[in-house]
Amino acid sequence: MNIGILGAGQLGRMLALAGYPLANRFTFLDTTGRPSAGIGEVISDPDNIRLEAFLARVDLVTYEFEHLPVELVRTIEARKPVYPGSRAIRVCQNRAEEKALFDRLGIPTPSYRLVSSAAELEAAASELGCPVVAKSVTEGYDGKGQAVLRDPAEAVAAWQDIGHAQLIVEAFVDFVREVSIIAVRGRDGEVAFYPMAENQHVDGILRYSIAPMPDLDDSVQQTADDYIRALLDELDYVGVLTLELFQTRDGVLLANEMAPRVHNSGHWSIEGAVTSQFENHLRAIQGLPLGDTAARMPTCMVNVVGREGDAARILAIEDAHLHRYDKGERAGRKLGHVNLLAPTHDALLEKVRTCAALLPDAPAPHFSFE
Ligand code: AMP
Repeated sequence: MNIGILGAGQLGRMLALAGYPLANRFTFLDTTGRPSAGIGEVISDPDNIRLEAFLARVDLVTYEFEHLPVELVRTIEARKPVYPGSRAIRVCQNRAEEKALFDRLGIPTPSYRLVSSAAELEAAASELGCPVVAKSVTEGYDGKGQAVLRDPAEAVAAWQDIGHAQLIVEAFVDFVREVSIIAVRGRDGEVAFYPMAENQHVDGILRYSIAPMPDLDDSVQQTADDYIRALLDELDYVGVLTLELFQTRDGVLLANEMAPRVHNSGHWSIEGAVTSQFENHLRAIQGLPLGDTAARMPTCMVNVVGREGDAARILAIEDAHLHRYDKGERAGRKLGHVNLLAPTHDALLEKVRTCAALLPDAPAPHFSFE
């Protein structure tokens, strides 16, 4: 089976690494001109002239990057099976469509308004009550295209700063923690759920994910499973889907956003779960049985961002697994991650601190259950 992947970054790289044992081959279509997968066959096509060459090589198509022209995905869909389908991409590209879908399926979100001018932004900030978070409706990721307003009077500056025609304005959630649920749905509709992860972001960039959480009520996991199942079924989705949520003080989950792909907050599953998110995505899109999503042990994923750490010292930590993406150092760039496993959460946190000290740009790890 030759699998085509739209996008050619580290997520595609890790999909390929999971697919080689299944005798999959990979061809990447990169539309950015900056592919980094460094594996398989990469067709770099910033001018959109090599689509035929890509289609000729692949049996089915998936993606690792959702900020692609929907038209391109529809064109491909007319020629080859694409999993998940273009509807999932369309919804996930647009925060307004995404929130409308959450509303329709009864998945709670922070209160929000859509605005198309600085004056409307100011009115929404007054109505919702500051602080609020304003986000561009399209093209935002890793906290880009966003601003926090502490006063409605900041609307004009924020509007100019973000520079988009439409924004979504959300009430600022006083969350206890940020969490994510990852699930996978097969071609036959079978669904499997990973244990939820607690995620620590700094400046909009994920730095640590820990799963399973030591203090998570079964009913909260069940609620998250129900939310993501509703999304999977509604979109007739095939593959891995990620839903990021805020957990509030009273245990309530509010949906933030979803990603129609394998996700950074699921990298812990490479060594931490019986079957990784990458293998399960490949199983799902090929119509193979899904693998067990249970955690083997408490696991923490530590992102390597900006500058590389001391690989030898990281690898000297017991049950530490370093995944490097073979990318150049640059401030804020994800260069790799480390998965740490330990039999108890206390032992795990100790390893996380040891590992963080070996990474020059790592922020101090903080988890809600410490
Ligand atoms: P996003 O791109 O929507 O995932 O936002 C990036 C980060 O900004 C999130 O991971 C949160 O840390 C923070 N954030 C986004 N929306 C809100 C909100 N409504 N309330 C509080 N924090 C938020």
